[in-house]
Amino acid sequence: MTESLVADTPINLLDLVDDGPRPDAAPGIRPRRVYIETYGCQMNVADSELMAGILTRQGYDAATGPEDADVILINTCAVRERAEERVLGRAATLNGHKKERPDVLLGICGCMAEHLRETIHERAPFVDLIIGPDAYRRLPALIEQAAGAEEHELAIDVRLDKAETYEGLTPLRRDGVNGWITIQRGCDKFCTFCIVPFTRGRERGVPPREILRQARELVAQGARSVTLLGQTVNSYRYEDVDFADLLRAVAQVEGVERIRFTSPYPVDFTPKLIEVMASEPRVCPYIHLPVQSGSDRMLKEMRRGHTIAEYRQLVADLRAAIPNLALSTDIIVGFPGETDEDYQRTVELIEEIRYDFAYLFKYSERSGTYAHKKLPDDVPEAVKGSRLSRLIEIQEAICLEKTTPYVGRIVQVLIAGESRKSEHDWVGKTDTFKTTIMPKVPGSEVGQIVSVQVEEVTSHTLKGHIVTRDESITS
Ligand code: SF4
Repeated sequence: MTESLVADTPINLLDLVDDGPRPDAAPGIRPRRVYIETYGCQMNVADSELMAGILTRQGYDAATGPEDADVILINTCAVRERAEERVLGRAATLNGHKKERPDVLLGICGCMAEHLRETIHERAPFVDLIIGPDAYRRLPALIEQAAGAEEHELAIDVRLDKAETYEGLTPLRRDGVNGWITIQRGCDKFCTFCIVPFTRGRERGVPPREILRQARELVAQGARSVTLLGQTVNSYRYEDVDFADLLRAVAQVEGVERIRFTSPYPVDFTPKLIEVMASEPRVCPYIHLPVQSGSDRMLKEMRRGHTIAEYRQLVADLRAAIPNLALSTDIIVGFPGETDEDYQRTVELIEEIRYDFAYLFKYSERSGTYAHKKLPDDVPEAVKGSRLSRLIEIQEAICLEKTTPYVGRIVQVLIAGESRKSEHDWVGKTDTFKTTIMPKVPGSEVGQIVSVQVEEVTSHTLKGHIVTRDESITS
């Protein structure tokens, strides 16, 4: 699971790059306008782009915000209870637009639609559409159904479809420089704490031809960096093509300057994959490698399928093969039955591995999972809180320790856009996924990979100035 990437990422169709023809609206009829707001992981952001693509090709326009939308869709996350509560609160706020303009349709899509279909109907009866992650092809038809429905009559489709990979549909991209390709849907691992296999169904790989088509399209739209997405991305398989084959093929698409993937599952790393990562210069030396706990006892309870010794060996193999490898991880504290000793093993692990970054969470019980049914949520909230705070403190110090050696170095940064804090600065990423801020200089522009001399750092950010432009890859 990409626990790491769970964040609120409101996304509006207006931010997206249009990439294809669509039907004209009938004369005199204003096209419907849609607003999509996204919560959760990067796969959800990619799914919102997919929905935007489907609707745009059906003649929909982008709304500037919910206030001028005819259709408001919230693409949701079910990984933690707090995320679900936030979405229900947000839906109640957005219902204000329906009160002002009764024709407005409000829909809840994604994992929470799958997980809480009854609850949504009870707690948010004003919602018109509930659409699960495998039903986006039917989105236009469901909107039509909702538009013609009686008040409080719901248009709903939460069927899981183990064959659906959305092959042939082109997402409407949001970010011109960084492109995302969903290469795998669903998950077969069934970690005991995780809701994803229930909300996203069984694992299935997108055909390689479709992935390569999307990679070429991304490049044509201006992307320089491509990230392959999947719940356990390195378990990807399609017929006789495995993830290592796919990674090599995408890295060789002309115009792809950087390639990353998220999130791999530790037991699915193969020597062949490590070899591809080490030998393909366009594959970034950065891996997000979820561990969840430093205690073998907890890993067993979580059914992660490996021990800490095996994980440690994998990290050693990766570091031996890939110089300057940056590593991040996900950790859950307060899993059922976690003792002080188990927790101490986690502290020791992060002190030993020294991750560049870690996404740290308190355990949140999810109904329907094995842990919810069989493992009492018995670590008191206060204990979870203090364990989390201490871990954050330790990891923050390690993050600073990992960025400090960058001072004085020259790094290659892909300029992604203007810094949010100053119109005079660019923001971008190194190939080790470090956020870097640098003043704009004449001739520099979004999409260039530039050499930056690092002058100062914080625990999460590098700051420096552009010293040269890499002529071989800039226009
Ligand atoms: S079940 Fe495990 S591997 Fe699958 S998405 Fe959840 S945490 Fe990741």
